[in-house]
Amino acid sequence: MTGLMQGKRGLIMGLANDRSLAWGIAQKLAEHGAELAFSYQGEALGRRVKPLAEQLGQDFLFECDVSDMASLDAAFATLRERWETIDFVVHAIGFSDKNELRGKYYDTSLDNFLMTMNISVYSFTAVAQRARAMMPDGGALLTLTYYGSEKVVPHYNVMGVAKSALDTSVKYLAMDMGPENIRVNAISAGPIKTLAASGIGDFRYILKWNELNSPLRRNVTIDDVGGAGLYLLSDLASGVTGEIHHVDAGYNVIGMKAEDAPDI
Ligand code: NAD
Repeated sequence: MTGLMQGKRGLIMGLANDRSLAWGIAQKLAEHGAELAFSYQGEALGRRVKPLAEQLGQDFLFECDVSDMASLDAAFATLRERWETIDFVVHAIGFSDKNELRGKYYDTSLDNFLMTMNISVYSFTAVAQRARAMMPDGGALLTLTYYGSEKVVPHYNVMGVAKSALDTSVKYLAMDMGPENIRVNAISAGPIKTLAASGIGDFRYILKWNELNSPLRRNVTIDDVGGAGLYLLSDLASGVTGEIHHVDAGYNVIGMKAEDAPDI
């Protein structure tokens, strides 16, 4: 363990199980001395998150549904009861109706479009509003995005549109909060098999395609994401804000299928 995060504390939002990207990040932060609080969506997930938090020696957990502003207010009030200030927040939250994460984007319904934008995009801004009030001496916010915001990935559909808006939110928030020394960044993670990802049509094909065509010829793990999360939330990244940092085995730089990649 290094003292990289010693004396720092923050909130992890979006831990569902030990395959969550949030778990990769939380483990790395705890390993380097951070104190963590966890918010979870609903009692059922709370029962899964509790033992994971305990594994990291943490016991500060509370419920938060980010689509409900009263629930967000209550969560931050609970956070403030124990900690007057925080140093970082990890927002690892996204949601869309899985029936619209397959087929054509033009079939997206208004209801699901609005819900997806609310939970996957607006919530990060709503969190930033509340977190900055607890960061009088600066801090760092981190969210998770995906390449489907930059280029078309089959089936990603409305989630790709939402991630584009999330990427842009990162930049506007970085500009707004920079004078307060609050840094705002995103990790654009390569595909990883998680609960959320299982809703995406043909996800196994996406995984295989990335493995065969990325420069590192492999898929990334939640450990890879955790390492980058630790960097972005620590003082090592003190000069970095508004950044969309790819942790995707290099896939985003590739313009053509690799010569040695077999047909899939
Ligand atoms: P996950 O299922 O482990 O995590 C998604 C989390 O979102 C869950 O904890 C869920 O409870 C939470 N959530 C959904 N709706 C919510 C709400 N209304 N209120 C509060 N929480 C809510 O899956 P994951 O893949 O770890 O997803 C985390 C983030 O990473 C998402 O933003 C996702 O889009 C992003 N991401 C995932 C991948 C991947 O391939 N898995 C790649 C790039 C980016």
